Formats: sequence, structure tokens, C-alpha cells
Amino acid sequence: MRAVTWQGRGEVAVTDVPDPRLEAPTDIIVKVTSTAICGSDLHLIGPMTPFMTPGDVLGHEFMGIVEEVGTGASRLRPGTRVVVPFNIACGRCYLCAQGLQSQCETTQQTSTGTGAALFGYTKLYGQVPGGQAEYVRVPQAHYGPIELPEAGSDEHWLYLSDILPTAWQAVAYADPQPGDTVAVVGLGPVGQLVARCAFEQGATRVIGIDLVPERLAKAAAAGVEVIDAAGVDDLAGAVRDLTRGRGADRVIDAVGMEAHGSPVAEAAANVVTTLPRPVAGALMQRIGVDRLAALETAFEIVRRGGTVSLAGVYGGAADPLNLMMLFDKQVTIRMGQANVRRWTDRLLELLAEGDTFGVETLASHHLPLEEAVVGYQKFRDRTDGCIKVVLHP
Ligand code: NAD
Ligand code: ZN
Ligand code: ZN
Repeated sequence: MRAVTWQGRGEVAVTDVPDPRLEAPTDIIVKVTSTAICGSDLHLIGPMTPFMTPGDVLGHEFMGIVEEVGTGASRLRPGTRVVVPFNIACGRCYLCAQGLQSQCETTQQTSTGTGAALFGYTKLYGQVPGGQAEYVRVPQAHYGPIELPEAGSDEHWLYLSDILPTAWQAVAYADPQPGDTVAVVGLGPVGQLVARCAFEQGATRVIGIDLVPERLAKAAAAGVEVIDAAGVDDLAGAVRDLTRGRGADRVIDAVGMEAHGSPVAEAAANVVTTLPRPVAGALMQRIGVDRLAALETAFEIVRRGGTVSLAGVYGGAADPLNLMMLFDKQVTIRMGQANVRRWTDRLLELLAEGDTFGVETLASHHLPLEEAVVGYQKFRDRTDGCIKVVLHP
């Protein structure tokens, strides 16, 4: 079959790979109908290079039709339309029962000290072949895949795999109260949905920060008060001006380690990704090469006693953080991979009411799987008005 594979730093290709087969009783095989490219995929072709192997099948946001079913996943039938959460969780262990499916104790990666296995997401997360492919093997399918109605376009449901529950969780963790102002740093696909989830969860005002004109415009059209980070000298001052001098009550970082404006870390990432792999992997984990510009912004613009919630992914372990500022401002920080299944029942209800979150118009580019390379380029470089790319095998 054809699949999007990682080839080297900054390089993906659509290649022939072996067809997936059922390997465990709780596996199913899904024929993919739509699969999206995520900001998290951009980390894989950049700073996460030391954890990749040429030929790895990418992709963790996908949906499709059940093709084959293992004996342990008989709640599903061939022909059922499903969307698949990006974290692979058992639904039965202690941490799944706590709503921490991204930490599932059955699929947790003890050898690398990381959480639940993820589709298409490096050696650190189980090296499970991903869903930017014609077919995909889905482990733990007695629990993970979400059955969908026949009705509705693929994109009405696709983002349940990741970015919609990610955004919902980031807002839930920030816990906006009536009257609160929520600031969102980064208005990529995740940030766009964070803004909409913030209104849905009761925020009175949402301030959005980015540097890309189309992304600012898209958020503004949804009622977000936008600030062009490239157009102001004093970002924290601009947010304070909008919030009676205090800062935002809740701030969500929807950027992560691909932030613009961290030149030192950027240089470090370039060095690390060109070192021999075992050395580079160890260095990346121990020293950390995160680009912290967005995180620093989040801490600067939050009001004293406020909450910062991180949706953006950070990779290194020993970044210099402004702990003094955090302590002095008495900030609460929450973060983590989305626990997708924790939120999907509620999100399914909201999606049944209509296009509550604007998901049907989120994608800017729809491409055949064969044109994935162009999709990656445009999404990474933010050219051609690219906000989100959906691929069709
Ligand atoms: P994206 O790269 O398209 O969006 C990032 C946006 O941030 C871009 O619009 C960019 O212009 C903007 N930006 C960059 N530097 C900035 C800065 N210094 N200040 C303000 N804005 C800045 O990616 P995305 O798909 O929207 O994903 C965003 C983040 O969320 C990524 O780190 C991704 O890995 C992460 N993510 C996390 C989870 C989770 O489970 N927690 C799930 C999905 C994605
Ligand atoms: Zn994703
Ligand atoms: Zn579990």
C-alpha cells in the first residue's frame, strides 16, 4: 500500500510499504478515508529527528471504514465508520479509569519512560505505524475507535482524533470562569479550535496571538480579539492594555516547540539533528532544545494568580525556565497530551447539534495522499494560506 513515510530531517515521501495485518486479537484494520497533517508532525521532521527511523509511517489524525476485525474487538464490524484517537489506550487500566488515556498503563512506553503509545510518533511512543496511509492497524480497538453516524462529511468528525479534544482539554484545564478573558498563543489549527472551545466553555473574551495574517483573520472572524505578534513591540503590554492592566485570566499555549523567536534554541536544534543519532537522542532528552518563545509569552501575559495551560508540545527535559517569574506571579500550570476518549462523548453531543466549532471549514487544503509532500511543505512554511491539510488516500 501507499503511505507517507519519514525519510530524513525535513523530508517525507509517499512510498510503498507492507500492508498492515492483524497482530493481536484486539486489533482492527481501518481503510483510511481522510487523514490530516498536524503541527505535531512538524516536530517529527524537525527537532524530533533523533527519534525517527527512515521509513516510519507518519500520521495520527485519521478516520475511515473498518476493514478487518480481530476476535477481541467484536464490538466493531467491517463497514463501520470510525474515527481513531491518536493515543492508543486500553480503557481498562488504573490511569485510563482516571481519564488519563494518554498515560495508559497497558501501552505506556516504560523502556523510554514515556506515556501511552501513539500512532506514527517516534521510537519514544512505540514506533506504531501511522494513519497517513491507505490502511492502518489499530491496536486496542475494543476501546479506542469511535463509531460515527453515516451522516456528515469526514471533516465534521475527523478532528475528534486529536485537535478537537486537545483544544477542549487545554481549555478545560485552564478552567475559564464566567467573565474571564482567555488568551491563546498561536492560532494554528489547534489554537483556532482552542478559541472556539473557550467560548463554548464560558469564556467571555478570547484574545488570540499569532504572526500569520490568514490565521489572525480566521480567528477574528470567530469573534477573537487578535494581536499580530509581529506588529507590536511589547506583546505583554498589548495584552495588559486589553485587560485593565492585569493580563489574561487564563492563557493557553497552542504553539509548542516550533515557536518563532527562539534563535538560540533553534540553532541548538539544528546542531542536535545533525549529530550521530544515539548522541543526539540522549542530548535532546537530557539537555532539551525547546524553543521557548511562546511559553515565555504565555507566562508574561497571564495575570497574577492566573492559569497557564499548555497544548503545545515541548520535547526537551532541562530547559531554562523563568521559575522566578512563575513563583512570583503564583501561576498554575497544567499540560499534557490530550486524553482523547475522556472528552469525545461530550464532543460528539456538541457535533451532533451542528458545526459548533467550525471544523467543516478549518482545512484550507484537501489533497490526494500522493501529494502529501506538497501538503507538508505548505503547512510547515505557512504558505498559500495553508492552515490545515487533509489528505485523501
Ligand atoms: P501549527 O504549527 O500550525 O501552529 C502553531 C502556530 O503558532 C502558527 O500559526 C505559528 O504562526 C504560531 N506561532 C509560532 N511562534 C509563535 C510565537 N512566538 N507567538 C505566537 N504565535 C506563534 O501547529 P498546530 O497543529 O496548531 O499545533 C500547535 C501545537 O499543539 C503543536 O506544538 C502541536 O504539537 C501541539 N499539539 C498538542 C497536542 C496534545 O495532545 N497536547 C495535540 C495536537 C497538537
Ligand atoms: Zn495531531
Ligand atoms: Zn489503559
